[in-house]
Amino acid sequence: MTEKQIIELVTLAFSDYFEYGIVAGAAYLIFWKLLKQRLIHKFLHKVTPKKESIRREMKYSLFSIFIFKACTVLIVLAYLGGYTQLYEEISDMGWTYYFFSFLIILLIHDTYFYWSHRFMHHPKIYKYVHRVHHQSVHPSPWAAYAFHPWEALITFGIVPLLVFCIPLHLSAIMIFFLFSMIRNVIGHLGFEIFPKGFTKNKWLNWSATVTHHNQHHEKFHGNYGFYFTVWDKLMKTEAANYESAFEEVASRPPRKKEKLKIKSTSYQVE
Ligand SMILES: [Zn+2]
Ligand SMILES: [Zn+2]
Repeated sequence: MTEKQIIELVTLAFSDYFEYGIVAGAAYLIFWKLLKQRLIHKFLHKVTPKKESIRREMKYSLFSIFIFKACTVLIVLAYLGGYTQLYEEISDMGWTYYFFSFLIILLIHDTYFYWSHRFMHHPKIYKYVHRVHHQSVHPSPWAAYAFHPWEALITFGIVPLLVFCIPLHLSAIMIFFLFSMIRNVIGHLGFEIFPKGFTKNKWLNWSATVTHHNQHHEKFHGNYGFYFTVWDKLMKTEAANYESAFEEVASRPPRKKEKLKIKSTSYQVE
């Protein structure tokens, strides 16, 4: 391995910490600090989590990223050894395929997420793998990667599935996983940002909203999807009151000059 490749590997190893710090940090700062009172009518939680709960989410997220990066180093080594389907020149597959590949990754990842998520909810698996993530009954943006190490490994499992099986440009997979990180932070935002009528629109209601994943954290079951609601609708795992709950919060008018007091609580769940 050349010195340049070693530097690139080390850069890669730290890049997600930087990206995650920016994405989750910006979401937390904007929604949970700067604009909280102005957007309080869109707040999905009945209580605001205590600082120690948010610190727990951060701690687990940082460790999950460490696992992602350690696994990424293995993928990079496989790539350098010529074992993956990753390619560097867009002209190798063309621009049409380049853009089409985003759709392929999106559909595969959504399917992978839904079924791996349901697997982690199996009673014999849940407490060893997924319980850590569900300790956040009222998640903050920092909960996006608050996983037990086993869950972090399962989450990363989509990467080898993609890079060993499907030709993907290096930039396509990097852009996609940055998008995925942003989408994940939005799912744990705690504020509904999708507009009123979203779930009633047949062209839009296949996309998950913040309420969709928030209900999963509140109820511990149902709404297992990530980007889309399609698998939940097909498998009849969507919360019965999902659409009404979304429309209720999305329709709330702003509360002007009213300081809403939100009780602070800890939500450690066994
Ligand atoms: Zn879950
Ligand atoms: Zn979650």
